[in-house]
Formats: sequence, structure tokens, C-alpha cells
Amino acid sequence: MNSQSYYQIQNDEYEIFQHAVQHRLPVLIKGPTGCGKTRFVEYMAEQLERPLYTVSCHDDLTAADLLGRHLIGPDGTYWQDGPLTRAAREGGICYLDEIIEARKDTTVALHSLSDHRRTVHLERTGETLTAHEDFMLVVSYNPSYQNLIKGLKPSTRQRFVAMSFGYPEASVEASIIAHESGIDEASAGQLVKLATDIRRLTDIDLTAAVSTRLLIYAGKMLKSGCPARKACLYCVIEPLTDEPTTRQSLLRLVDAHF
Ligand code: ADP
Repeated sequence: MNSQSYYQIQNDEYEIFQHAVQHRLPVLIKGPTGCGKTRFVEYMAEQLERPLYTVSCHDDLTAADLLGRHLIGPDGTYWQDGPLTRAAREGGICYLDEIIEARKDTTVALHSLSDHRRTVHLERTGETLTAHEDFMLVVSYNPSYQNLIKGLKPSTRQRFVAMSFGYPEASVEASIIAHESGIDEASAGQLVKLATDIRRLTDIDLTAAVSTRLLIYAGKMLKSGCPARKACLYCVIEPLTDEPTTRQSLLRLVDAHF
């Protein structure tokens, strides 16, 4: 493959994923937003040379969006496989990002594909499809406070090999930011130090922690000549909070670092 995705291995995720592949087991990846879940799945799909079908889940997502539906064409109606069915038929990885957003009746459609049966019944065509041997189901979600309430049915989650991702260790995160944004390692390191301080704050109310993704945005702006204070304000602070007092406290942290 020519344009390989860049992915820095953080822990034992590569090894565990390979074992899951070997045994045709589905994988669940938990972790905060922007910590590298999607990039990892893209990287693994390339390593395995399997097509990747990614679906961003939302609360209007129906089973038909995943499985397929009849469409009307010039010659009448025809059946079109959805991404899950296509991956199962052709042997690819189907990645359902933020699965917790999907309705429970939609996730139930995954059950027969994610256990030993590896089949899916397409009610609308009457077909029972047995998944290709290279089919793999991967799902992810962010176990934030809001999502803990929504939850994932135990009957769904207990079908997966599950691993937790976090933000990378400081030196790894700095090299990711340097690679992705083009800034030098020292400036990337400064951004990581700022992020580490923000992630440590417990006395202010942030709904989410600062992600590697946001630090990359700030790095890109620094690279194109944006002053550090502004890059941090617009790429790190504003996306994190709407509270003027929190914004001020975070700006003071920025001033301490840059
Ligand atoms: P998630 O799916 O967890 O929300 P992404 O996989 O989209 O997050 O990661 C956000 C960005 O952070 C990626 O586009 C990539 O640039 C960078 N990134 C995060 N972790 C890594 C990593 N381990 N190796 C390489 N890039 C990473």
C-alpha cells in the first residue's frame, strides 16, 4: 500500500487486535474523543489489507442504514447492501464509531454477526448471509459521563473483546502533534504540557478533556504563524468551554506556558 496511515502504537493494542483478527472476534474500543481510535482502526485495516467501512452512529441511524434497503432505479427497484452487509459479504472491517449514539434496536441487528453465528438475516430480501472469513466488526464509544447513563446493553457489549484507549503518554503525544502539524518537537512538547495541566484540573467543570486532535489544530495554526496565545484560545479553550470564568482560568494557564 502506498499512503500508509501514520499511527503511533501506545500500548498492546496492535497485538490484541491481531489476536482478535486471528480468532475472528469483534473488537470494542473505548476512549475519549480525539485520542486515536479511528486512526488506529484505519491503520489496522491497512495492515490487514482489508477494506474499511466506517459509519458514524447517531440516534436516527436505523438497522436499514447498516444492513441495506431497496432503492428505485431506471429498471425498477433493486437491493443495495448497507455498509455492514457489504463488509460481511465482501470481507472487510465495519467500524461503527460512537456506537452508543445508535438506537438500541439498531445495535441488536449486530448480535448474530458478532457472535459465533457470524450471520445476518436480511428481512427485506429473505437472505441469511454468512459473513466472509475476513469480515470483522469494530465499534467504539467515548465512556464520558453522559454516555455512562445511556450505556450499551450488556448483551451487546459482552460480545466484544474490549480495550480502553487514553491520551498518549506525553512524549508520544508530542511526536504525534509534531508529525501531524509540522511544528518542532519542542513546541509540540509545550502544547502537551499545557494539555496535561488542563487534563489535571478537577476544580473547573469541563464536559470533555482536551484531545490530541485539538492540540494538532493548535500546532497547525502555530506552524502557519498564528501567535501561541490565539492558537490555544481558538483551538483548545473555546472548543472546550462556553463559561467565561473557565475560559479566563484556562487562558491564565496558557499564559503560564507560552
Ligand atoms: P477518535 O476516533 O478517538 O475520536 P482520531 O483517531 O480521529 O480520534 O484521532 C484524532 C487525531 O489525532 C488523528 O487524526 C491523528 O492525527 C491524531 N492521533 C491520535 N492518536 C494518534 C496515534 N496514536 N498515532 C497517530 N496519530 C494519532
